[in-house]
Amino acid sequence: MLSNIFRGKQYAVSKKYNRQSLKDNIEEKKKSIKENYVEIQYQETECKPNVPEGIVAKCAKCGKIIYNKLLISNNKICPECGAYFKMTAIERLSTIIDVDDLCIEYDKQVTTKDPLKFPGYKEKLLNLQKRTGLIDGILVVKAKIKTNDIYIAVMDPVFLMGSMGTAIGEKLTRLFERATKENLPVIVFCSSGGARMQEGIFSLMQMAKVSGALARHSEAGLLYISVLTDPTTGGVTASFAMLGDIILAEPKALIGFAGPRVIQQTIGQKLPEGFQRSEFLLEHGFIDKIVARNDMREVLSKIILLHQNKSQGGSKDEFYTME
Ligand SMILES: [Zn+2]
Repeated sequence: MLSNIFRGKQYAVSKKYNRQSLKDNIEEKKKSIKENYVEIQYQETECKPNVPEGIVAKCAKCGKIIYNKLLISNNKICPECGAYFKMTAIERLSTIIDVDDLCIEYDKQVTTKDPLKFPGYKEKLLNLQKRTGLIDGILVVKAKIKTNDIYIAVMDPVFLMGSMGTAIGEKLTRLFERATKENLPVIVFCSSGGARMQEGIFSLMQMAKVSGALARHSEAGLLYISVLTDPTTGGVTASFAMLGDIILAEPKALIGFAGPRVIQQTIGQKLPEGFQRSEFLLEHGFIDKIVARNDMREVLSKIILLHQNKSQGGSKDEFYTME
């Protein structure tokens, strides 16, 4: 009996001891797992491919990673899902004009005088100038599209969201004045977040200034084609973007004046699906045609040719071959 009790105690002690050792074992295992886990993490970071910035881009629509070289050769259209990436002014221009022919850039040095002395504005501009190679958010050139002389302005969506300040207003005004003098058509690729808040009222004044020069170009019977790309909003939509003799747009581009949320809050109604997208605007008569990015050069050259034929008394039949 006693021996049994003794044995029992011994058993209890040994059991207690075993539990302790088990606990220690678990702790040790946990520690080793933790250590291993840290090591694995470390190795993983070490194994990550070293991809320099600007080599690949991620599609915002399908999430696929695409090589930038492939993207640029594909006119910045996602090869997986067909979504359009934003194009810089230089990239856009190279897809439209005759690249092997003469292209002259005008008013390259026109820059803002920072009329409001807005805090941090000059530093921001300097950074963007280095990044984009532009002095302000627009590129103005005289070039050829399929051997036809033309003035082209391309807004850059990267440069302060393509906002329109005094420099853009001045460059566009000079562009229309020059084109009027030389009897040449104008194409403007719009992509803008609207007026530039850093220049306040001076920025808004550009709407009237450009529209005035544009009206004189139009009175001279000259052609102005406006191409709306994603996004074209605010003061730009309220002026030269919507004043084209022919208004083209890229598929699914956001085009509007105020943002949809502001409109919804103001009118207190739910907005219809696809509101402020190119397809919706085409349906409601605000634009003339939606043109895919790969067809843009072809369509523009046809319109210019038809307009020339018309002004030279050419055949009207060609006009009907457009659609
Ligand atoms: Zn995609």
